[in-house]
Amino acid sequence: MRKSIVAVVGRPNVGKSTIFNRLVGERISIVEDTPGVTRDRIYAEAEWLNMHFNIIDTGGIEIGDEPLLVQMRAQADVAIDEADVIIFMVNGREGITGADEEVAKLLYKSNKPVVLAVNKVDNLEMRDQIYEFYALGFGEPFPISGTHGLGLGDMLDEVVKHFPERPDAVEDEETIHFSLIGRPNVGKSSLVNAILGEERVIVSSIEGTTRDAIDTSFTKDGRDFVIIDTAGMRKKGKVYESLEKYSVLRALKAMERSDVVLVVLDADTGIREQDKKIAGYAHDAGRAIVIVVNKWDAIERDEKTMKEFEEDVRQQFQFLDYAPIVFLSAKTKKRIHTLLPQVLQASENHTKRVQSSILNEVLMDALAMKPVPSLKGKKLRIFYMTQIGVAPPTFVVFVNEPELLHFSYERFLENRIREAFGFEGTPIKIYARQRK
Ligand code: GDP
Ligand code: GDP
Repeated sequence: MRKSIVAVVGRPNVGKSTIFNRLVGERISIVEDTPGVTRDRIYAEAEWLNMHFNIIDTGGIEIGDEPLLVQMRAQADVAIDEADVIIFMVNGREGITGADEEVAKLLYKSNKPVVLAVNKVDNLEMRDQIYEFYALGFGEPFPISGTHGLGLGDMLDEVVKHFPERPDAVEDEETIHFSLIGRPNVGKSSLVNAILGEERVIVSSIEGTTRDAIDTSFTKDGRDFVIIDTAGMRKKGKVYESLEKYSVLRALKAMERSDVVLVVLDADTGIREQDKKIAGYAHDAGRAIVIVVNKWDAIERDEKTMKEFEEDVRQQFQFLDYAPIVFLSAKTKKRIHTLLPQVLQASENHTKRVQSSILNEVLMDALAMKPVPSLKGKKLRIFYMTQIGVAPPTFVVFVNEPELLHFSYERFLENRIREAFGFEGTPIKIYARQRK
């Protein structure tokens, strides 16, 4: 089920990315004093008191050298298009500016719920200064301080009040939903067409086009699939639609609805930094992943090329060591038939459950093979393990002290589990919990 989306808008330097980072809980976008510094990451899962939602830092969506006003309009448009709730941020130390009023006008017309956050209210004495912001017309202003983390709770309480009610989706569990993610021009659209045009693929219906993507359902070898295509959606003609970050954002939203994500690479251009970033998103989302190396027709090959390319992928995408790699050409259709079986397998592994008794045999063998190390003179004791969930498969190990389970030992356990049960194509998660 899709998580609610919150977008933060406001003129440069009011503190959008500071808040974004705080809510996401890691310092992942760059905060600097220079207005308009490029951000790395504009979309992430945020958590506040156990509530999970996705947050967009619209300040990271930049359009070339366009003037400030054009930029802000585009950013507000993205927020209006994508978000369930908009946080409109202003600077409590500067009062209302013309730029704030411009943003306010756009949000006014949007019919989306807007929560007004007055940032940089770093202490109680400053709270009197927030009243002037009533004039913006969005009701009660919420004083916050991004750098000190003040007032966020009250603001977020207001934000979540506006989350839409979502009935539990009655999705067909058997149908495999997948989407494609990758840089522009790696061949995502071509690949969608190639998959749907594949032999013995029966395209049963083109479902209603959603706001974000075109869903197409089809059957192959008796299995039902839905391909969620955002790549083909270059529409509307709005300025920001062609932006790379924006298309990534669309793809990330599609990823939310996917069981399997295809990370598409271009053999012709090779691996770029941006590929890794995009793949990182897919990994973080906990979806099953298949790496697709497209345009295999376009490069000079000999018998060693595939192996070398594979080594390169493994080297550069170490965090995706579980993902199978498929080499193909959307253009010539060569090896295209190898893709869906991998999608199917990744999806099955993503929802696989293993028996506790066998799992604990694997655990005992692992403990015998590699005794647990001591940390600061304390010894970790591992008692037993159980699978608590799927999609992705999630395990809990019960231990004497969770802090003693070092990352490297956790990794070792993960590898043993993978060897025993074969979770190819899916990340797995392991948590340590104290035995009561
Ligand atoms: P953005 O351009 O809207 O994303 O703004 P940034 O998050 O990059 O912040 C701009 C500047 O304001 C940075 O120097 C931040 O350290 C500073 N800043 C952000 N939040 C606060 C706050 O709550 N109080 C104060 N005093 N400064 C802040
Ligand atoms: P997208 O932006 O990722 O959706 O990429 P497109 O599907 O629009 O493809 C970008 C360009 O790459 C187009 O010119 C395609 O014809 C070309 N292309 C796509 N797949 C292949 C392929 O397998 N081999 C070659 N040689 N070109 C391809």
